[in-house]
Amino acid sequence: MTNSDTYLQCDFHVHTRYSPCAQSDMLPGSIIEAAKEQGIKYLGLVDHIFGFTDASILKSARKDCPPDDGSIEVFFGCEADVLSVGKTTVTQEMMDALDYIMVSANHFHNDWLKLVDLPESDDPQVVGKHFLKMFNYAASLEYADVIAHPFYVMPGTYDIKSIYLLTEKDIAPGIEAAAKNKVAVEISRRAITQEHVEFMLMFYRLCKEAGVKFSVGSDSHMLSTVGQMRLLVEMVEELDLRQEDFWLPRKNGGER
Ligand SMILES: [Zn+2]
Ligand SMILES: [Zn+2]
Repeated sequence: MTNSDTYLQCDFHVHTRYSPCAQSDMLPGSIIEAAKEQGIKYLGLVDHIFGFTDASILKSARKDCPPDDGSIEVFFGCEADVLSVGKTTVTQEMMDALDYIMVSANHFHNDWLKLVDLPESDDPQVVGKHFLKMFNYAASLEYADVIAHPFYVMPGTYDIKSIYLLTEKDIAPGIEAAAKNKVAVEISRRAITQEHVEFMLMFYRLCKEAGVKFSVGSDSHMLSTVGQMRLLVEMVEELDLRQEDFWLPRKNGGER
């Protein structure tokens, strides 16, 4: 990356139609065209690897990609789940084949198959501690490159108050672990929703101080949101993030 606005040319969180929640027109070729229209130069395709997903979808998405014409750099990643402390959906094969491993530690809305460890009750104290425990585990993973939408409380799941009960002191050890293990945290449109923003600013400030890198992603499941990174400008400026604060994947085989 060459200048401080390069993050506006990055989108490392785009789902293809192989993610069950993505729209059927999320074909890699269409995504690339949509990204180019938004001025994206570095694109990351990720698909959900839930506890029930056949990971061969990652190969299928790659196969569907049009040949590289040099106009955009496409990286292949995944959005794997932390299922519980000690267990993720990441396999050695994924680590070997992918350019980066993104993990989500808060997909608590996917509980219809009871695969993700849920908080023991809806008590905001309990829920907050659960978010923290899962985040801390994700931050401890040396093979993880990015934590997707950290501490995002999916609408309709839990009381937003849960995360606001976490103090800087509670959060600091996980952030230190992320820094030590070179795990980046994501800034996406999820972080800038009105009910999250105050917590996120506190969290991201601590991340920046600790030297944790930031990945930007749209978390797109439809073509119209691909590459919409302008939404993040206000937060990036508020945090005073500089070129060196941003994470960029390396093609697999390269050094992290
Ligand atoms: Zn997610
Ligand atoms: Zn996602």
